[in-house]
Parts: sequence; structure tokens; C-alpha cells
Amino acid sequence: MKLSLVIPVYNESENLPLLHEQILQALSPLADQTWELIFVDDGSTDQSPEVLEKLVQNDPTHTTALLLRRNFGQTAAIAAGIDHASGEVIILMDADMQNDPADIPRMLEMIDQGHDVVSGWRENRQDAFLTRVLPSRIANWLISTVTGVHLHDYGCTLKAYRREVLAGFRLYGEMHRFIPAYAHSVGARIVELPVRHHPRRFGKTKYGLTRTIKVLLDLITVKFLISYSNKPIYPFGGMGIVLILISMGILTFLLVRRVLFRTSVVDSPFFSSSLMVMILGFQSILLGLIAEMQVRTYHESQKKPTYTIRKQLKSAQEAGSIDAHSGHNL
Ligand code: UDP
Ligand code: MG
Repeated sequence: MKLSLVIPVYNESENLPLLHEQILQALSPLADQTWELIFVDDGSTDQSPEVLEKLVQNDPTHTTALLLRRNFGQTAAIAAGIDHASGEVIILMDADMQNDPADIPRMLEMIDQGHDVVSGWRENRQDAFLTRVLPSRIANWLISTVTGVHLHDYGCTLKAYRREVLAGFRLYGEMHRFIPAYAHSVGARIVELPVRHHPRRFGKTKYGLTRTIKVLLDLITVKFLISYSNKPIYPFGGMGIVLILISMGILTFLLVRRVLFRTSVVDSPFFSSSLMVMILGFQSILLGLIAEMQVRTYHESQKKPTYTIRKQLKSAQEAGSIDAHSGHNL
């Protein structure tokens, strides 16, 4: 089983040599041919590209580096690394030495035991409490509740994935943290593993509180795509029907009042608002229909199935099996 280690790098020149050494040490028990290390330089403005060049020259058996043309963001850098990875297992990790490569062998063991995703959990997180740990706790609770996939630490990059569960998942925005939720939606078996976490020694964090807002917006997108990308008419149409029912309820109330108390229907402010609600309801249903057409174009133009297969069982004569096809897509 081959392992690809993918590491996004943005201005981490001081960390890289030490990190590389740590990784070589942690993975030395593995046979040479069975692992590769892919650094993705995300348009660093410091010496990172030069440092990477040296690391690749010193360790050509395992190490490669992709240099992106500009800073595209951590998620895009990760996507580039995954696209170039050849392993059956892909492990993502930060370049800042806050994650510890010594946890990798344990993750591989758990993948071996049949799990599709091993999700690192920084049980003793070494970051500022108010600005990092607290917002992250709230975010983890929210993501867990909304997606129904309960993990302690979505934000921890150190996670291992069996390749098939990543296939067909395109990463946008800040979405790399939602990979486990997506993987769960295509039927992956997920397990959590407490991992070590160290304070940042060199360089500084690239993120502040603004990321929280992006993560929230991505959560809405991911929830929608996971739950409704096949049937957008359900949420839109459902909302439309509820709005139309509310509007009809108000109109009935006005009519009854007219009959019993001779109060004018048209003069009531409820009348115009109920009309507005009715129009909104129809609009919402129409939006759902348009989305339905889009979804068909999306799935059928790219031949994306709406289901996923874990394995096909065949008799001994017809050896070979079809591996998990990833179906519904983000
Ligand atoms: N990173 C990146 N592109 C960016 C920002 C960050 O590739 O635009 C990398 C960064 O070098 C590090 C990882 O993503 O390896 C996580 O970044 P950081 O440690 O700053 O985030 P934090 O751990 O503070 O959430
Ligand atoms: Mg970090």
C-alpha cells in the first residue's frame, strides 16, 4: 500500500529542513518504494522554493515539490498535491511543524484495519485560546451538527484518506476541512485519532478570525451539496410550498373576518404581505426547477453517477474487483 504525504507550504522556509528530517525519521521503517512526499509551494515570498529545491536534490527517492505560480490558498495547494499524488493512501499535513509526523505510522495502521479516513484530533492544542481554540470548538460543534458527522477537530490538517474517498471531490474555498464530511456522504468509514500538537516555533500563522466567516459560508455550501445536490427541488420546493400555505392561511383568515365582521380584506396590511409571500413561494419552486436542470447537466455531462460502490464481488474465475467508484460529487 503506497503512501503519499501532501504538504502545503506558504512562507515556511525555517520549518522545512527540520520538518523534512522529522518525516524521514518517522517513515524510515517503511520500505523505500512505498511512500512519497509532495511539497506544494503556494507562491511563497520567502526562501521556501529554494529550500525545497535543496530538499528534493538531497532526497530524490521520496521528495518532490510543486511550485504554484502565485498564492492560491491552502485548499488549492492541497488540491494540487492530491492531483499529483500516486499513493493509495493520502495523508495531509501542515508544514509548520505543529503536526507531528511521528503520528503517521499509527494512522497507516488504522487505515490497514479497514478505515477509509483517519481524522487527526489535536487533543492538546497548542494555540491561543481566545482567538483560535474557542472559535474552532464552536466551528467543530456547528459542522458536526449540520453535517451529522461528529468529529472533534475538523480544522486539524493531519488526516489520512484512502484514495477512493477523495476521487470526484473538487476542493474550493476553504473546503479541505470538509473532506471527512464529504467522505462520509459517499459511505467512508471514519475514525478519530488523537495526535500530538506543538506550538509554532518559526514563521507565523496565515489566518485570523476572518477565516471563520469563510468556513461558515463553505459549511452552507457543503451541506447543500451533500444533502441536495441530486434533488435541489426538495429544499427549494419545500420552502415554496410552505410559503404558499402560509399565504393561503392568511388569506383565509382575512376572508373569514370579512364574512363575520365585515372588515375590508384589501385594506389590511396582511393582504399585500400574503400576496408577497405567495409570489415568493412560487419563485422558490421555480428556482428549484432551474436547479434541477442544472444538476442534470452537471451529473450527466461529466458522467457522474449518483451512487457509490465499495466493491464488486465476483466468482474466482472472474478475478479482479471494481474499487469504490465515487458517486455524487461536490
Ligand atoms: N498555507 C498555504 N497557503 C496559504 C496559507 C497557508 O499553503 O495561503 C499552508 C501553511 O504553510 C501551513 C498550512 O497551510 O503549512 C496551515 O497554515 P497555518 O499554520 O498558517 O494555519 P493554522 O495552523 O494557524 O491554522
Ligand atoms: Mg499551523
